[in-house]
Amino acid sequence: MTDINQLLDQAEQLIRPADLSSAQLHKADTLARIATARALNAIAQDTTHTPTQAWAAGVTARLLTRAAILTGNRNATVDIHDTPQRSTALCQPCGWTKDHGITYRAQVLEWAQEHADQCTALAKPTT
Ligand SMILES: [Zn+2]
Repeated sequence: MTDINQLLDQAEQLIRPADLSSAQLHKADTLARIATARALNAIAQDTTHTPTQAWAAGVTARLLTRAAILTGNRNATVDIHDTPQRSTALCQPCGWTKDHGITYRAQVLEWAQEHADQCTALAKPTT
């Protein structure tokens, strides 16, 4: 997990848009995407990761947010909840939500993935 902490430190140094020119901001965004990809690789290879919370009843998919990837806190998730009528996405840390008829579940998943990719809200500690 050291790699993730180093990447988080680097990301924190990059998250100052007001101090950056447009070109620098573009470069910082690119570097942040690379850092996220590296963090994902580190998580994928880490066999000692923190267990996630149990899935609530009705949750059929769970997406890690950007914050979860950067910090290794796997409780920062967007959960997809399906009923026979509706599909609903809920971001646990920030409360963002979207829903649609179950026929459009794929659209809900796409919205959820877009949100998860951007969300930097931190999960509330559970202990
Ligand atoms: Zn969110």
